[in-house]
Amino acid sequence: MGNDYTLDKLLDAIKENDLKVDNKAIIAAFKLAEKSHSGQKRASGQDFIIHPVATAIYLANLKMDQPTIMAGLLHDVLEDTPTTSEMLRKHFGKEVQTLVEGVSNLDKLKYHGNKYYIENLRKMFVAMAKDIRVILIKFADRLHNLQTLEHLPPEKQKRIAHESLEIYAPIAHRFGLGELKGNLEDWAFRYVYPEEFMWLNQRTIELYSEKANYLKNFKKEIRNLMNIENIQYNAIYDRVKRLYSLYRKLQKYNNDFSQIYDAIALRIIVPTISDCYTCLGIIHCKYRPLKGRIKDYIAQPKPNGYKSLHTTVFADGYELIEIQIRTPEMNTEALFGIAAHWDYKANEGKKSAKIKWVQELAQLSSQLKDDPQYLETLKLDIFQNQIFILTPKGDVIELPEHSTPIDFAYHIHTEIGNKCTNAKINGRIASLDSTLKNGDIVEIITDKNRKQPNIDWLKIVKTHTAKGKIKTALNKYRRAQIRNF
Ligand code: MN
Repeated sequence: MGNDYTLDKLLDAIKENDLKVDNKAIIAAFKLAEKSHSGQKRASGQDFIIHPVATAIYLANLKMDQPTIMAGLLHDVLEDTPTTSEMLRKHFGKEVQTLVEGVSNLDKLKYHGNKYYIENLRKMFVAMAKDIRVILIKFADRLHNLQTLEHLPPEKQKRIAHESLEIYAPIAHRFGLGELKGNLEDWAFRYVYPEEFMWLNQRTIELYSEKANYLKNFKKEIRNLMNIENIQYNAIYDRVKRLYSLYRKLQKYNNDFSQIYDAIALRIIVPTISDCYTCLGIIHCKYRPLKGRIKDYIAQPKPNGYKSLHTTVFADGYELIEIQIRTPEMNTEALFGIAAHWDYKANEGKKSAKIKWVQELAQLSSQLKDDPQYLETLKLDIFQNQIFILTPKGDVIELPEHSTPIDFAYHIHTEIGNKCTNAKINGRIASLDSTLKNGDIVEIITDKNRKQPNIDWLKIVKTHTAKGKIKTALNKYRRAQIRNF
């Protein structure tokens, strides 16, 4: 690991990913980084420059833009070299300067267990809201540090690995960065739970070799089936579940491997959404599906946006295997999430829901930063599962689990929240403190004469947005009352 991080490899990665990047600018950034870090060594004894280059290569493979890759190369120069922020601006412009500064500011966050944990998260969100690319550079930086942890003292290994599992991986997951999340988790896993890692790693290798022949035949059968039925496909392959997510699943099932049907799954990539359903149909005609295991994450995506069809079937009449069917777009989304569809400048107007969510969080966190309860809410918002609620018109509103109609009302519009009196859930009148479930259709009944929200709602609502808006409305009303006297 780590011997092959050279400028040439970076330029190769840029070419392979077909990035619209000016190589001259990349080379200039590389030269300044190399000069700034000259004489410095990594704990492994290698020249320090391999680290920023590794970071930049990862960013190129995430198909990031030119300033991000340049900032990846330069991300450590402000910390411990004579190069200044002003020099970055002069040589490479304000965008690269701001990105590098953003990453350097995050480096100042120290991990002290629970006490500063939430505060660190808050700072990460503020940084993300300013520019999501900062966090992607930080992720790439952290991944390479994890990959080279073996050279650090054990105590430091544990700290960095823990922090990666508890802070970095959940955020990567929340942004749908599946590939990155898997990498961060599996590299951290071997340091946080070394024995479990070794056992599971070995067990997975054995499992795969036991099944190799059967998998080969099954893939052939599926290809034949697709050809007979005349369905096009982009790819059919098997994938082994990531170790840390396998570990977590095993814990739920008392380490009983026979309960895990997706340790090895078959993935079928087909051109369109309707091909996905056709493909599922022909598979179910030929192989009996296991009851309760057919999941339509296309019609109802997972909380982080994941889409696919899943089914577990009896192949060969007895052997159970999970099959995942998706389009190339869904596959890219599953692997790269926010990095796949975040167009840094072109789409200012139509930002993705995830970007809006981050900006909202950061905005509120600066307004309410002195409220200790708020920080707890923020943590819940990040790590709770999300549910999807529908408006009567069919618009989808994403909320944390256990949200109420009041949360829903405030997410639609502040005034709808302030004036709400009742709700209809799936056509039936329901009280405002009801718990919403995924897929509920919610209609809010308002009273235009209502002057202020109910103070008790603060105890009921689950989202930071609703809480913040209720407080603002109550304060405004109180000030108006005072003025009137
Ligand atoms: Mn670094």
